[in-house]
Amino acid sequence: MTGVPRVIGMLGGMSWESSALYYRLANELVRERLGGLHSARCLLASVDFADIEELQAAGRWDEAGQLLAEVAKGLEAGGADLLLLCTNTMHKVADQVQAAIGIPLLHLADATAEAVRRAGLPTVGLLGTAFTMEQDFYRDRLAGHGLTVLVPPADDRAEVHRIIYDELCLGTVREESRQIYRDVIARLADAGAEGVILGCTEIELLVSAADSPVPVFSTTRLHVEAAVDAALL
Ligand code: GLU
Repeated sequence: MTGVPRVIGMLGGMSWESSALYYRLANELVRERLGGLHSARCLLASVDFADIEELQAAGRWDEAGQLLAEVAKGLEAGGADLLLLCTNTMHKVADQVQAAIGIPLLHLADATAEAVRRAGLPTVGLLGTAFTMEQDFYRDRLAGHGLTVLVPPADDRAEVHRIIYDELCLGTVREESRQIYRDVIARLADAGAEGVILGCTEIELLVSAADSPVPVFSTTRLHVEAAVDAALL
């Protein structure tokens, strides 16, 4: 590192359960890298997830993008040097947010795809919200890095989505749901997935490597690592 670390701007609250994880991981990683009492220079702006979820459910993505772009501008004005959109799903509007600011948005799918490629696993399963698993914005971004992406069948997708919104985003972690995720992951591995992307920032609260027969890639962790790498350059 050549000078003062850059300030990481975190656009979170989607949900705050995972934003808390972003904050803790960023600080742990900076302490690990710099030692002593070092911690992450960061700004966290946290939206009301109820507003975002309402816009998602209504398909009003442009309005959600505008809302997030305004918050991102505030982070830039406050001194952030780079931006993390702390959710996979809202990367659907990542271009709209990036267009509103002058600092770089570190795309979560890019950080994830690079890690999967480094691991040498070209075919991966993807778990996330229905938006992330079913729409093109995220899968295409991964495919752009040369990955083949498998998603669970419809029934499994519905369960994975339900558990995110009805439980994980509310801070509820249930053993029964962990077993459901284990089963979905096992079926993805049977279908040919060589690794599984935990493509929702709350999933790491429920499952870990121990719950999967193939390597798992936590998007929250990978996103934070990319940000700390960039901040400490
Ligand atoms: N945090 C989740 C994600 O990574 C879901 C919440 C949201 O819809 O933003 O996709």
